[in-house]
Amino acid sequence: MTEERYRRLANADHRHLWHPFTQMQAWLEDEPLIIERGEGNYLIDARGRRYLDGVSSLWCNVHGHRQAQLDRALREQIERIAHSTMLGLSHTPAIELAAALASIVPAGLQRVFYSDSGAEAVEVALRIAAQYWQLAASPRRKLFVTLEEAYHGDTIGSTSLGYSEPFHQHIRHLLFPTLKTPPPHIFRFHQRMTPEAADEAALDAAAKIFDRHADEVAAVVIEPLMQGAAGMWAHSTRYLEGLVEMARRAGALVIVDEVATGFGRTGRMFACEHAGISPDLLCLGKGITGGYLPLAATVATERIFEMFLGRPEEFRAFYYGHTYTGNPLAAAVALANLELLRDQRIIESMRPKIELLRSCLQNRFGEHPNVADIRQWGLMAGVELMRSPQARQPFPYAAQTGARISKAARNRGVIVRPLGDVLVFMPPLSITPAEIEMLTDAVHGAMRETLGEK
Ligand SMILES: *Cc1c(COP(=O)(O)O)cnc(C)c1O
Repeated sequence: MTEERYRRLANADHRHLWHPFTQMQAWLEDEPLIIERGEGNYLIDARGRRYLDGVSSLWCNVHGHRQAQLDRALREQIERIAHSTMLGLSHTPAIELAAALASIVPAGLQRVFYSDSGAEAVEVALRIAAQYWQLAASPRRKLFVTLEEAYHGDTIGSTSLGYSEPFHQHIRHLLFPTLKTPPPHIFRFHQRMTPEAADEAALDAAAKIFDRHADEVAAVVIEPLMQGAAGMWAHSTRYLEGLVEMARRAGALVIVDEVATGFGRTGRMFACEHAGISPDLLCLGKGITGGYLPLAATVATERIFEMFLGRPEEFRAFYYGHTYTGNPLAAAVALANLELLRDQRIIESMRPKIELLRSCLQNRFGEHPNVADIRQWGLMAGVELMRSPQARQPFPYAAQTGARISKAARNRGVIVRPLGDVLVFMPPLSITPAEIEMLTDAVHGAMRETLGEK
């Protein structure tokens, strides 16, 4: 019976679905894993098998699935209203969530502009920054400084701010150019510098760009401390502080993309806090609803906001918004997420788990001859695999080493999704110590099974 149902669903998937970021030819040759339910930190498939959710359902889940308080917040809101527009009207959850966000974001940020995805939160920030300088009568400030291999989402605007050869190669003609600066990671691994020398070299490279283009830079855009999709490229607080200071000296705006790092992921509410920086525009997404519904936000300072004020006939308004902007269900569950983070002191209690993940990764992967590096900020970590770490020689792309290991991990009861050959560990903040052991054991076992005993 269950099997019959599974077959029917699998066939319909293969016939009708086109999955995101997926080579569908390989997908069609394989049996899809179909998730039907969630329970705490576990996903349950259509055949009734349980898997630990080791990637937080793509980096967004915070407290686990079917969390009682989040479920209740949704039910209570749906009994009031599921959706009402924010164009020309306001609603209770949007107001309450904006005030709650303003009380936890870095000092100076207080205006919340909602959207539906992380990409859009970045799109909004870049459009606010672009319009800001036009309104400020500095029309020359048009350029964005971004990090090499950055990822800020998939709209044309946010794609332009990022860079990845496979993502860009077919649509390059649609994207606008940016000033790309190499982050410390490039110097550390491609030029084999020490972490300190790499920070220095990366800051020097950025300084050259700011020197050359000082009065043309609209904003610097950065994923703070960890460039997630690049392959968990970590950098130091020192680099982050240095880059922000440079942007400030050049008179440019600072846009921080905390879509991945926000809401406790790095061990603080926001990664900015580790470096004591406060941006002009902060992009939030993923964990904002605890991983329940699509919602994102761009939080601005009052200085930015005031530039957009004027009489209607001055046309200074920010002309942007979508049908579901600030959806009440999503805002209600986001508010409950913030209450949980506060009332259960989730972030304060993460420290031992972060240290346990660090030691588990070190113990299991540290000595393996194919492990090139282990990078971690909070409960966000990557283990980089290479054919020869000494020679910085990767496995051939066609071997799909990371993907094969992740697939093998399923038979050991965990769901993970790699970034190329970087194994990603991104569990919900609610993961227990025993589950951290289970997660790292399963992926380690899968790696040894795939690469052979070494
Ligand atoms: C995931 C991600 C985005 C895009 O968010 P979506 O909700 O997938 O559009 C943007 N920036 C960073 C840093 C991300 O990790």
